[in-house]
Parts: sequence; structure tokens; C-alpha cells
Amino acid sequence: MLASLPWAKPVAATLLPPPWTDDAACRDLEPEEADQLFFPERGHSATKGQVLCRSCPVAKECLDMALTVGVEFGTFGGASARQRQALVKERNGGRPPAQPPKLCSMGCGGRAVARGLCQRHYDQERRSMALA
Ligand code: SF4
Ligand SMILES: [Zn+2]
Repeated sequence: MLASLPWAKPVAATLLPPPWTDDAACRDLEPEEADQLFFPERGHSATKGQVLCRSCPVAKECLDMALTVGVEFGTFGGASARQRQALVKERNGGRPPAQPPKLCSMGCGGRAVARGLCQRHYDQERRSMALA
């Protein structure tokens, strides 16, 4: 069930689930279970979620997406929010994380260039406005 995928929550507003999520080890979890595993409350351990991520065939894709989108909370690709911050800093040569790129509001995953849309969707919108 897509709604149960842990990252569906923080990124649902900007991104449609990419195809690799079909293979996610967490895809059949109930939403509450996914919440407990990947968004543990303060003081609760994230270990169980991280163990599941270790067996996940798409952990790399999951981590890459969380880093690209700049998800601030939860466990993704086996990495906690703090571990991801450290990873971004490491990739950045010690500098704090840059602002994540703004993504197209149509959910195509493209970078927004104008009016919250990627170039393709922006062009499409302008063409449809010209036709109207
Ligand atoms: S790495 Fe973890 S959070 Fe990401 S898709 Fe796999 S099981 Fe789910
Ligand atoms: Zn787009």
C-alpha cells in the first residue's frame, strides 16, 4: 500500500512515488507500523526500521531520494536524519547542506524553473494558455 511507504508522507506534496518503490522492503507495512519503524517518537529506537532497510533491495535509491529531496525527519535507506545530515555535509566537503532543489509541482520529479513547474510543464502550461 503506497500510503504506508515511510517517505510518502514528507514528500507526497511534491513528488509521486518513483517506480523503484515497487521493490521496497517496507511497501506492505501498515501505515502505523511504518510510522513506528521509520518515524520513532523521541527517545524511541530507530534500530528496527534500520534493520528492515538493510534487507531492502532499493535502499540506495531510497537514501539518494531522501538526500536529494532533503527530507528532514525519519529513517530512509537505513540512515537516520542525523546520519543523512552528516552524509550531505561530507558530500559537500564539510559545508552545511545546501537548500534542496525546488521540484516541479506536477510531481514529475523535475527541477522547478518557473511558477513552481519544470521546463516541460511550464511550456505545456504556456501552450495550453495560448490555445485557450
Ligand atoms: S530503504 Fe528502508 S525506508 Fe527505504 S524503501 Fe527500503 S525499507 Fe523502505
Ligand atoms: Zn514537471
